[in-house]
Amino acid sequence: MKRCFSILICFGLSFVSYSQSYWQQEAHYQMDIDFNTKNHQFDGLQELTFINHSPDTLNKVFYHLYFNAFQPGSMMDVRSRTIVDPDRRVGDRISKLSQSEMGIQQVLSLKQNKLELDFNIEGTILNVNLNEPIFPGDTVQFDMEFKTQVPLQIRRSGRMNKEGIDYSMSQWYPKLCEYDKDGWHANPYVGREFYGIWGSFDVRIHMDANYTIAATGILQNPDEIGHGYADIDLQNPPEKLTWKFKAENVHDFVWAADPDYTHEIVINENGPNFHLFYQKGEKTKHWEDLGEYMIKTFKYADEHFGKYPYPHYSIIQGGDGGMEYPMATLITGHRSLKSLVGVSVHEAMHSWYQGLLASNEALFAWMDEGFTCYASNRIEKELFPEDFSDPHAGSFKGYKRIATSDYEEPLCTHADHFDTNWAYGTASYSKGVVILDQLSHIVGQKVIDKSLKRYFDEWAYKHPNASDFKRIVEKESGIELDWYFEYFVNTTKTIDYSIYEIIGDEKGTQILLKKGEMPMPVEFNIVLQNGTVSKYYIPTVLMRGEKEVELNTKILSDWAWTNPYYSIRLDQAPSEIKKIQLHTTGHIADIEPLNDRVKMPDNWDWNKYKLRLNLLEKKKKGTIKKFVKIKK
Ligand SMILES: [Zn+2]
Repeated sequence: MKRCFSILICFGLSFVSYSQSYWQQEAHYQMDIDFNTKNHQFDGLQELTFINHSPDTLNKVFYHLYFNAFQPGSMMDVRSRTIVDPDRRVGDRISKLSQSEMGIQQVLSLKQNKLELDFNIEGTILNVNLNEPIFPGDTVQFDMEFKTQVPLQIRRSGRMNKEGIDYSMSQWYPKLCEYDKDGWHANPYVGREFYGIWGSFDVRIHMDANYTIAATGILQNPDEIGHGYADIDLQNPPEKLTWKFKAENVHDFVWAADPDYTHEIVINENGPNFHLFYQKGEKTKHWEDLGEYMIKTFKYADEHFGKYPYPHYSIIQGGDGGMEYPMATLITGHRSLKSLVGVSVHEAMHSWYQGLLASNEALFAWMDEGFTCYASNRIEKELFPEDFSDPHAGSFKGYKRIATSDYEEPLCTHADHFDTNWAYGTASYSKGVVILDQLSHIVGQKVIDKSLKRYFDEWAYKHPNASDFKRIVEKESGIELDWYFEYFVNTTKTIDYSIYEIIGDEKGTQILLKKGEMPMPVEFNIVLQNGTVSKYYIPTVLMRGEKEVELNTKILSDWAWTNPYYSIRLDQAPSEIKKIQLHTTGHIADIEPLNDRVKMPDNWDWNKYKLRLNLLEKKKKGTIKKFVKIKK
């Protein structure tokens, strides 16, 4: 606080303008939904209050109409039928939907401050030309009448999923597109990522009384509903019940409905409570044990990643795998205990990295999926320590596999526009974990832990981008990190440090290390014949600093990234050295491990020969000789 105050005095105006340079839009939805379970259609009324906090005057607005993606010939359908490795859940299924099976979202009327508006629908986007511009700071009200047919469940949402859940209602309502400092984000829906405006939802759903509804937010009328929300038996229930949900400080609203849901509440003293909705049976028997794992999960996450702020979290059987929403997740439920816990932990951790740190996922999918996987990997190691020695090992492996293929695309690729699902998935999930865990190699684990909490404290309820996260870690570490994100996010350049050459004489040993495409700090050990281990650390010059290293580690001079080689002179003669090992922290995605270690050869005439890395030849010939003799 003290520091902020002095800056304020010295640079009063610029500080104020800096702190005000971040803005975000605000949207409050009131919706009334009358649901017909016979034809799977509903009539909707939507009153949307929108506040333009941007410095810009808006002459048009856009809405997402996600359900229109589930029509033969839609962009999502064509994308799925033309991409080389389609999601098996989608495949060509959309192309085969009949008129009564497809998704349809029609806008019947739209008004701006009570005056009718012109609009047109292009697939999953509603384009609206405004009567009156929305000036900076203006509040406007949009009233919409819409009619929707719920598609057969294809991807994420829809009716009758493969486990027999009637309605998985995600991406189900006309949703205003986000407008931020980069402008509108009216991306046609092709099945990938989401981005929404912060605000609130007040949703009424009229539905057949035998259905149990699970949803984002808090049920306002449990005593009129029962269904596990209140311990009552309705006398002479009406044909339909009206469910009233409210959710504050969220950017989306999901719900699901099934007549066969069991609704159980797991009380968690330290909050939140867990609402479980599932069809009870042999295939879902492990749901009874889920609560205790979720209590441990949220305890760990609260301590390490920031405090979950909502009063409850719902785990809802539905959808087609696992998908995150504010205060809730839809997961398939027929699972082994570890699979059920694994998917629940992953989706719950999205509450932090999608629910609260709501980055534009299309541009920063790795800040959502990657950070979520990183957090859930750590929690799964806590829950099942016997299964994970290194919780991130699988992510490193997945990343290295694509990094050594011809298919990798940079992390900064727009999520919709990766050429393959493999490249998208590996970038956002695996490389997303690697980018975060590898930071611990650069700045140290303690700094990462502090950074993650500070990131949450400063950026929850906003839309952080990559630079916002980078700045937090820079501030916590005092290390400059531009280069790291520039290389690892914007390019597919890889890390490959190697022990290139060893030259010995009576006076000592000279080791030449070689750099790959991407600069990184390097740590290595020298193990002597007598068992002594010496640790060394070479910062890269781009860091303009170094991390806190273990006491007995020798910090060498910076490696200038323009130098392909770095020479180290040791006092020990080569005969005294047993082996040399690079990357002893382990948290570095060096794509070629074979050149990272050398065991010194016996009976070697160091006066005549030096040792030289021979991997390229090795690969061509398929022999295993890593290092070869070269005449001095
Ligand atoms: Zn995920």
